[in-house]
Amino acid sequence: MEKPKQLHAALLSSPGMGHLIPVIELGKRLVADHGFEATVFVLPSQASHTEAEIIESTMTPKLLDVVELPPPDLLAAGLSPDAAVVTRLVFMMRQARPAFRSALMAMEARPDVLIVDLFGTEHLCIGDELGIPKYVYVLSNAWFLALLLHSPTLDKEVKGEYVERTEPLEIPGCKPVRPEDVVDPILDWLDHQYREYVLRAGEIPMGDGILLNVWEDLQAETLAALRNKEFLGRVANGPVDTVGPLIRPVRPAGLGKELVEWLDKQPSESVLFVLFGSGGTLSAEQLVELAWGLELSQQRFIWVLWPPTIKSLDGSYFNAGKSGARDEVLRFLPGGFMARTRNIEFILPSWAPQVEILSHPSVGGFLSHCGWNSTLESIANGVPMIAWPLYAEQRLNAMLLTEEIGVAVRPKVLPSKKIVGREEIEKLVRSVMVEKEGRTLRARVRELKSNAQKAEAKGGSSYESLCKMKICIIKKAR
Ligand code: UDP
Repeated sequence: MEKPKQLHAALLSSPGMGHLIPVIELGKRLVADHGFEATVFVLPSQASHTEAEIIESTMTPKLLDVVELPPPDLLAAGLSPDAAVVTRLVFMMRQARPAFRSALMAMEARPDVLIVDLFGTEHLCIGDELGIPKYVYVLSNAWFLALLLHSPTLDKEVKGEYVERTEPLEIPGCKPVRPEDVVDPILDWLDHQYREYVLRAGEIPMGDGILLNVWEDLQAETLAALRNKEFLGRVANGPVDTVGPLIRPVRPAGLGKELVEWLDKQPSESVLFVLFGSGGTLSAEQLVELAWGLELSQQRFIWVLWPPTIKSLDGSYFNAGKSGARDEVLRFLPGGFMARTRNIEFILPSWAPQVEILSHPSVGGFLSHCGWNSTLESIANGVPMIAWPLYAEQRLNAMLLTEEIGVAVRPKVLPSKKIVGREEIEKLVRSVMVEKEGRTLRARVRELKSNAQKAEAKGGSSYESLCKMKICIIKKAR
């Protein structure tokens, strides 16, 4: 009998930890559960030791190959140092195109499928050159995808800036979205990143399908609306398939001795974990209010404390994992804070083992910027959240988590618009950690955790989506 052909997947990740992690995890899933070989091409954002560590962790056991593309010299290529994150990401990906193309062409075995994230849609045409199927892996949720796919239409229909609008936007399959909650790139029509964002949305139909990092039950209604022929036929060329939650697994010794010893001593679900993703920072004034709010709440906390924002709330996006000196960071806190909170605090001044912390039984809440990976990691560990969105699509995620999915509370006014005061923070923390509302959120998040586990397991919806993709790839490879 003829031996089945070994399928090889080529995946491309744009820079940033929040992109690299789910792309690597998809590659690992294809290898471990679906018999693929996989190569992940990464474009490093910087020589961040965290990035190197994440890549290194995929090597034990070695499930896939990771190829680092040469980082482009952006300034020499004419990118302004003040360019917004999306402009920067797209520019970096564009500059890397010749290197990516050569690397693909030079592969020993021709890949059978090309999977790119949203910032790699300009590379889909390389899949056409190779005559293989191409997928766009949207590292987010169905609301984000609905807004993205609808944005070329909004671009034509909506006159003026979103920020100037008062009435909510009608997006297929979403609750009406307040204009202030849309994704960053479309907040300012005059910024170059808006044009790039709409162009990326318009390129999605070049792919043979879309992979989404959610599972069916999480957003059944939105997925049904997205798949409605009338909508999807206009904006994409192929199915929308759910493959999530694809998150980094817990590493057995990942917490480190000091942290594990501290966590082991705390009562069950008594610790609030505070972290704003790989790029989020707070203003100096907000940092002080947060410190006071945590202290007033009298709840135990682990706070990953980075120096305050200098220019914008995404201040660390391209610097993730840059370690700060502990004393350097502590000087931004109110006088006497460390002494007064010494029995309830654990402060980390650099990159934290987030998944490991969230999976510890002593952790009972997560004050998060609502990046989609952090959100999935929180749900997958049954931890309710305080939604503190800062930039990118985080406001939309916060709205989804609080108003639709029901696993989070949030401040009354967006933290990116107005300083959240200490009393409000105290209340939010107490509501999640000790009050009835927290118990309701916890019950809901546990239900979702169990749904997510079913979706990932053999025969579950996310598992089956990848089986279906494999069948399409095999058909094309014949
Ligand atoms: N992360 C981490 N330690 C940190 C900061 C971030 O492990 O100190 C991980 C986090 O677990 C998540 C990713 O980095 O997997 C951040 O992705 P997310 O989509 O939540 O936010 P982004 O950083 O892209 O805004």
